[in-house]
Amino acid sequence: MKIAIYTLGCKVNQYETQAMEAELLARGHSLVPFEERADAYIINTCTVTAVSDKKSRQVIRRARKEAPEAVIGVCGCYAQTAPEAVEALEVDLISGTAGRMAFLDDLEAVLEDRRAARLAGEGPRVTVDDALRRRVFEVLPAGGLEGRTRAMLKVEDGCVNFCTYCVIPYARGRVRSLSIPEAEAQCRRLAAEGYREVVLTGIEISSWGAERRDGSGLIGLIEAVCRALPADVRVRLGSLEPRTITADFCRRAAALGNLCPHFHLSMQSGCDSVLKRMNRKYDTARYYESVQLLRGAFDRPGITTDLIVGFPGESEEEFRDTLAFVEKCAFSAMHIFPYSRRAGTPAAKLPGQAPNAVKEDRARRAGALARRLEAAYLDGWVGETLPVLFEEEKDGLWRGHAPNYVEVFARGEDLHNVERPVKLLRREGGSLIGEL
Ligand code: SF4
Repeated sequence: MKIAIYTLGCKVNQYETQAMEAELLARGHSLVPFEERADAYIINTCTVTAVSDKKSRQVIRRARKEAPEAVIGVCGCYAQTAPEAVEALEVDLISGTAGRMAFLDDLEAVLEDRRAARLAGEGPRVTVDDALRRRVFEVLPAGGLEGRTRAMLKVEDGCVNFCTYCVIPYARGRVRSLSIPEAEAQCRRLAAEGYREVVLTGIEISSWGAERRDGSGLIGLIEAVCRALPADVRVRLGSLEPRTITADFCRRAAALGNLCPHFHLSMQSGCDSVLKRMNRKYDTARYYESVQLLRGAFDRPGITTDLIVGFPGESEEEFRDTLAFVEKCAFSAMHIFPYSRRAGTPAAKLPGQAPNAVKEDRARRAGALARRLEAAYLDGWVGETLPVLFEEEKDGLWRGHAPNYVEVFARGEDLHNVERPVKLLRREGGSLIGEL
């Protein structure tokens, strides 16, 4: 069968799509681009913002309109939290965020007897569970895709932080973790497949192992993974919460030669009163302590972050506090998001919902600051040499990333999936230009 997949959302959704793609190929199906004719279309949806919901519905409608006879299977976070809304879009199969391999079994079954099901006027096959009741981590095969340099490894699912603006805990359930032996085995296989970098990802990897109650924390997993991989295969970490960064974490992490000194430390606001309204589990003092600990343990690590602007009730003064705190942290790169009101979240009911003009103005001001800090960080590396793992070529120029996640371009031959030392010559925009 010809199958096309459209994925919305985060690294975890992309990872689960990669696992489904690898499994479909292993079952003898062929994968075609979403624009092409297919026997079945899979839409892996996202619900992180109201815009993601809308995009998910648009893609489903487009698939149904362009391929009235094909099987439409919908999975992912939007299907998990709003199956009724998806059911109204003339689809054949709905599954949530659990049981990806079972979803493929159902897809094959529906492909088999869809004509009979339609003639019988049967509605879609729906298999959506209660995410908060899940206790088992679904182990999915990582990697297996040609030509990739970097492989994602999903090591954790679920979140119980219940930040007031977020619906993810309802879409992904409680914390479940990949076991260390399974993580080691998957890493050895990825190295054997030729991947040069493994990204540990999850919904909230700082909670890895939380359900085990044996005190083993994320650093234990990172040590095991780094040691299971050859020294020349890098390990990069997904988004972290500040509570993870302790003196013990930094001491042990700094001892791992193949761990990338790049830490995406989720911040969301730089103002304590806003952090409180967000129900974030730290204040700016604890956050800054994490930044200082990382800078004490690593040579100019890449510290990147996420910032929400225009959170309900955020005054101009609170926003200025955030800008001052961002300046103090001197991030190497930032993702800036105007607050997105999500029905069903506590934040959606808070007073002081900001008009879009205010959100856009604050995103513009934060963006200007972020670019200035990023430029300063990049300029600090000009004249030095960094190892760069090259990923792709464009017009004779190879693009890759250094361990601190700086994007680097250089001229060369056959550099795909090759790590080479690069002398960094100058900055151009948000990247560095170098020579081998
Ligand atoms: S940590 Fe907060 S923002 Fe992140 S997934 Fe969990 S509840 Fe959502």
